[in-house]
Amino acid sequence: MLLILVGPPGAGKGTQSARLAEYLGVPHCSTGEMFREACQRGSEVGQQAQEYMDSGRLVPDSLVEKLVEQRLIQEDCRGGCVLDGFPRTLVQAQDFDKWCEANYRAVGRVIELRVKEETLLARLDARGRADDNREVARERLRQYEELTRPLVDYYTAQGVLETVDGIGDVAEVFQRITAAIGSGQGTS
Ligand code: AMP
Repeated sequence: MLLILVGPPGAGKGTQSARLAEYLGVPHCSTGEMFREACQRGSEVGQQAQEYMDSGRLVPDSLVEKLVEQRLIQEDCRGGCVLDGFPRTLVQAQDFDKWCEANYRAVGRVIELRVKEETLLARLDARGRADDNREVARERLRQYEELTRPLVDYYTAQGVLETVDGIGDVAEVFQRITAAIGSGQGTS
């Protein structure tokens, strides 16, 4: 079963999806991490992604999709995985649905982590990663609102979306996520 975590930058997606993957015993697939590694290695994918990441914009769909598909066909993902930061546009979601169908996979649950904007900006400031300076952080939030937020309606229509309140300590939010996953089991 494939689980997807959706949420704006600073919502705690990375932390919660790593924890969830460990809890479920499946790999944690973070496209942001994969891109950061590719940039560090200086690979072709990394070189293509770098300028987008530096400015807080999304990397082109085709590049992301290739990366994810290559990861998901690996042996350790056969039993599923937690996707962190993918899909992030409607095109990615639609293409991914087609890919799933062709590859006998299914999106089991999509968890939307909801956190209000002022909290997000405070968290992003505290984190201080290279692409997290205020200006870039605002751009990343804008990209989320414009390009990623529509996924909430998309997955609601499919009946797989669960919205979880992302405010609270890590353990508390994690408990809400596992409850949300549990509540959906057996209904789809
Ligand atoms: P993240 O660590 O998930 O916030 O991702 C960091 C950066 O990687 C983003 O700001 C994007 O530039 C890029 N990225 C990660 N995942 C995607 C995706 N699914 N689509 C487009 N760009 C992505």
